[in-house]
Amino acid sequence: MNAQAPAPLPFVDLAAQRRRLGGRADAAVSRVLEHGQYILGPEVRAFEAALAAHCGAKHAVGVASGADALLIALLAAGVGPGDAVICPSFTFCATAEMAALLGATPVFVDVREDDFNLDPAQLPAALALARSQGLQPKAIVAVDLFGLAADYDAIDAFAEAEGLLVIADAAQSYGADFRGRKVGRLAPVTTTSFFPAKPLGCWGDGGAILTDDDAYAELARSLRAHGAGSDRYDNVRIGITGRLDTIQAAILIEKLAIFDEEIVARRAAAAAYSAALADAAAVPATFADRGSVWAQYTLRLPKGRRAAVAERLKAAGVPTAIYYPIPLHRQVAYRGYPVVGNGLPVSDRLADEVLSLPMHAYLSGEAIARVVGALRAALA
Ligand SMILES: *Cc1c(COP(=O)(O)O)cnc(C)c1O
Repeated sequence: MNAQAPAPLPFVDLAAQRRRLGGRADAAVSRVLEHGQYILGPEVRAFEAALAAHCGAKHAVGVASGADALLIALLAAGVGPGDAVICPSFTFCATAEMAALLGATPVFVDVREDDFNLDPAQLPAALALARSQGLQPKAIVAVDLFGLAADYDAIDAFAEAEGLLVIADAAQSYGADFRGRKVGRLAPVTTTSFFPAKPLGCWGDGGAILTDDDAYAELARSLRAHGAGSDRYDNVRIGITGRLDTIQAAILIEKLAIFDEEIVARRAAAAAYSAALADAAAVPATFADRGSVWAQYTLRLPKGRRAAVAERLKAAGVPTAIYYPIPLHRQVAYRGYPVVGNGLPVSDRLADEVLSLPMHAYLSGEAIARVVGALRAALA
C-alpha cells in the first residue's frame, strides 16, 4: 500500500459530530451517571417533549429501537395472526419483521421507480390478495426510504377509505417533510429509529413513536414497560421491555438541538454531489413538495458495472454501501409471504443497481470533491 495514500473517508462521521457538540453530549451522559436514574429518568420525558415539539406531533414515546417502535405500534393496533400488513419489499427487514413476529402476514408491494417508496397504485391489489388468502387487512407500513417521505396523501386516503391503519416507518426520515408537514404528522402513527447511523442517531440503540392520538400514546407507554397499568406491578396487558434508555435520551437532547443545522448541511452535500455527478450517473430524484434528510445518497449504476465501480472507489479510499442487495420478498425468511402481481420488478432492479456514497452533515467540500473525482474516474 502507498504510504502517501490519504486515509479512507468515513461513510458516516460520528467523530466530527461529537466535536461539533463540543462536549455537551459527553456532559449530558455524565449527568445521568451522577443522578443514576437509568430507567425512564427525567431526560426521557424531556427528550420526548422536545421531539414532539420539533415535529409537531402531540405525543412522542421513547422506545428502545426502531424495531421496537414498530413492534409496539403493531401491538397497540392489535395486529396478530390472521391479519395482513401491507409493506414495501425494498426496505430494511424490520419493516416486515415485526408484523411477522406477531404472527401476522406481511403482503409485499413494489416501490416506485422515482422515489424508491411504496407504490400507492398497488394498494388495491394488495388488499384483494390479502382477502383472497383469507387474511384480514389491518395496516400499511409505509417506509420513507433514504430519508425521503413516501406519498402519504395517496396512502392515507386509501387507508382511510378501507379502514386500515397507516404506520409510517420513518427510521430513515425523521426531520423530512412532505407538502409542508413534517414526518411525525404524515400518518396517524409514525415510528423512527435513533440507531447511530440514522440522520438523528444516538450512541447506542433508540427509537420513538409519534402520534396525535392520546389513547394510542398511553397504550404505547404501557406496552414499552411490560403492559403496566397504574403502576409497574399492575400488569394489564402483554408488553415488552422496550423503553428508551435515559443515557441515550440525554445524548439525543443535545443532538436534536443541532439537528436542523445538520439537515441543512446534508441537503447541501446532496446538492453538491448531484450537481457534480448528474452528467455521469443516475443521481437521486428530488421533489419540489418533499424535503429529504438524505439518510443515504444513492446512485443507480448499470447492473454489470456496480461491483467494479465500488472496488475502484474502495481502492481510492471512498467507502460505499449497497442498501439493499436483496429485496425482502427474495430473502429466505420472507419469501413465503404473498407478493402482489407477478413479482416486484422495480424492487429487483433497484437491488441490482443501487450504490450509496458517504453521507453525513460534516462532509467537507474537499471530501465531496474526492468522492466525485474517484467516482468519475471509476466510471470513465
Ligand atoms: C433502521 C431501520 C429500522 C430499524 O431500526 P433499529 O433502530 O435498528 O431497530 C426499521 N426500518 C427501517 C426502514 C430502517 O432503516
